[in-house]
This record gives sequence, structure tokens and C-alpha cells, in this order.
Amino acid sequence: MHRLILTEQHWQEIQCHVESHSPLEACGLLAGKNDRVEKVIEVRNQAQSAARFVMDPYEQLKAFEWIESNGLNLIGIFHSHPAGPETASVTDIAEAAYAVVHVVVSRTGSNWKARGFWVEEGEAHEVGLQIVE
Ligand SMILES: [Zn+2]
Repeated sequence: MHRLILTEQHWQEIQCHVESHSPLEACGLLAGKNDRVEKVIEVRNQAQSAARFVMDPYEQLKAFEWIESNGLNLIGIFHSHPAGPETASVTDIAEAAYAVVHVVVSRTGSNWKARGFWVEEGEAHEVGLQIVE
């Protein structure tokens, strides 16, 4: 996948979620069709850590069921780096278990920024994120 399209509303939801959990990392799933996000699903970070995230397996399962029953696909996973960096970490790359866009939401000052990555064979390649109305 070479890009991911989100609406301004989705981006607001992601920012609210990561902001409310900061300085801990927060995470969630992006469901949609093709390269277009249709739903942001928050998932609890079981690790409750400022340095890594582990999706709560029960919430993740419920989210997968919701996605399937709504005829959507899992197209992205997002998590925050409240203290940076903007890019996927070595751990993120090693633990990337799904062939979806990995969105890293990092903070600089009071602003959150999102960058997307496609992880393949131990390497992260940037994917363009497009935010539309
Ligand atoms: Zn990370």
C-alpha cells in the first residue's frame, strides 16, 4: 500500500486518544476499505508503558470481530510516541505482525504529527498519509 487516506475527523479522534493517555503510549486500529480509513478503533495498551505498546488481546479480538461484521478490513495500526521519535522504532519493526500501514503518532511540543510506514522484511518504508475533509 502506498498511501492511507483519513478524514480530519479520524485524525482528531486519534489525537484525542493519544493525548488522553500521554505520556504513556496509546494504540488502536484503523479499519476501512482499500486505502481509505472508515473507522478509528481505540485499543487499550496492555503494557501501560511510555516506551512500548502491546494491544490488549481481548479488545483487539473484539475490534477484529467488529471490523469483519461491518464488512471492513484492517488497513492500519496506530500508536503514539509521546516523547518521539517520528519514525517506527526497532521494536515496532520487529513486532509488526500485520501487513498494514503502521502509523506512528509523535509529539513535538504540543503538536501531534502522524507518519505512516509499511514494514516488510525488517525495514520500514514511508507511506503517505492524506488527510481529507
Ligand atoms: Zn513505537
